[in-house]
Amino acid sequence: MSSRTEAVKIAPNDAFNIQTVLWVKHWNEHLFSFAVDRPASLRFRSGEFVMIGLPTEARPLLRAYSIASPSYSDELEFLSIAVPDGPLTSRLRHIIAGDEIYLARKTTGTLVADALTPGKRLFLLATGTGLAPFLSIMRDPDIYERYEQVVIVHSVRHLSDLAFRDVLESRLAGDPLVEEEAAAKFRYLPIVTREPFPRQQRITTLMENGGLFEGIDGEPRLDPAHDRVMMCGSMDMIRDCSAILERLGFEEGSNAKPADFVIEKAFVG
Ligand SMILES: Cc1cc2nc3c(=O)[nH]c(=O)nc-3n(C[C@H](O)[C@H](O)[C@H](O)COP(=O)(O)OP(=O)(O)OC[C@H]3O[C@@H](n4cnc5c(N)ncnc54)[C@H](O)[C@@H]3O)c2cc1C
Repeated sequence: MSSRTEAVKIAPNDAFNIQTVLWVKHWNEHLFSFAVDRPASLRFRSGEFVMIGLPTEARPLLRAYSIASPSYSDELEFLSIAVPDGPLTSRLRHIIAGDEIYLARKTTGTLVADALTPGKRLFLLATGTGLAPFLSIMRDPDIYERYEQVVIVHSVRHLSDLAFRDVLESRLAGDPLVEEEAAAKFRYLPIVTREPFPRQQRITTLMENGGLFEGIDGEPRLDPAHDRVMMCGSMDMIRDCSAILERLGFEEGSNAKPADFVIEKAFVG
């Protein structure tokens, strides 16, 4: 994707850490993963986001990014869209190992286990790059102590957008910390909406027709008594799924007031 071999270094800025890109993987022409080294001072909870960016002549150009690695990881991994004329990603898509990027010193976010009250089944509903915070959560051993089952639904338009499909289909086989727990408790339901695929319905349809409960224990319906839900992705998905959950008696939670479900927009637009 880039013909450069020389890494780009950036000038120090007091407000940000400057981190080195360790690796980049392109899934297709508009989706890529990359990782930077982790500043020793950075603490975060699995599921949180952070501002990252590149320099411009005036000031750093920054955007919010969910951290895709779990809270214990030495690397900070990200899953990024490449918007053709996007101010940041039209440049970020060309990064190579050895380049430097800005990383804010503070993380935040609502897609954290602490914003939910205890439950038995955890449903993670993602569209597109909304998968990113859930890659963090599903690789955190703490989540398997809190829940008996963890289900990730990842809805994308095209087959090649199913980033991490092999890892998720294998139920995180080979993961150093959660392999055993995930083998028993983790389920992956991929959806592809614009190409032939076994599962093509919208997430809302799966919620209503029972498809969401394929292969998992318990009642084939969502119940606020023991089910918890996190959502990250397009505004449409979040709005429609929230409406279903609220009809079923689920309450939206936050860091200040944990409850039954939490949301985060994967992008503003
Ligand atoms: C809390 C939060 C967390 C985020 N986490 C991620 C993340 O983990 N990975 C990521 O790629 N982006 C994420 N984003 C979006 C990110 O901040 C930028 O919008 C994105 O990197 C594009 O930046 P840009 O400057 O190139 O274009 P922008 O000017 O920011 O966006 C241009 C347009 O592209 C579309 N767009 C932007 N981001 C996306 C996306 N992720 N998927 C589909 N369409 C999009 C929107 O229509 C938007 O109006 C997050 C946003 C928020 C608010």
